[in-house]
Amino acid sequence: MKCYYHPDRDAVGQCVDCGKFLCVECTGKYKPVLCDDCYNDRVNNYRIQQEQQIANTKAQEAAYVNEFTKHRNASFIIAAIVAIAITLETCIGYIVEGEYAFVFIFPLVVGLPIFALLFGIIFYLRTRDNWDALYDVISSGGIHPFKGISRYFKYKKIYDEYRSRL
Ligand SMILES: [Zn+2]
Ligand SMILES: [Zn+2]
Repeated sequence: MKCYYHPDRDAVGQCVDCGKFLCVECTGKYKPVLCDDCYNDRVNNYRIQQEQQIANTKAQEAAYVNEFTKHRNASFIIAAIVAIAITLETCIGYIVEGEYAFVFIFPLVVGLPIFALLFGIIFYLRTRDNWDALYDVISSGGIHPFKGISRYFKYKKIYDEYRSRL
């Protein structure tokens, strides 16, 4: 048997993918033993797989971002409605009683904290099953409802990688 690429040389091995006979030089070219065609096929397949994987990850991230944006907006609206209702009801009472100073103080001292607390609780309850997934998305820097936090996790990840190499 002669080498597929070098008809003047004896074959010493075969391409593991297609079985072409190869000479000493050709069998030493790639590991495992491959002919040029099969090597290129493998490289192209790998590239396609990688691209597919990146596309999948991006789509997954986009879905998470979408999901969390929805939960964030819904939590914001619910918390705002409740906080505004409580504030309005109380402030109308103050106006009726003529205690106008409280009309300015109450929304800041009570209304806003109620809103913040409710927003946090509702958002947590709506998303608590997804926190691990959220952490992955956040640490990849891909989530937009939390730009600041995601940046923190992104840099923390880079920093951790840097530290682990020392
Ligand atoms: Zn081959
Ligand atoms: Zn050869």
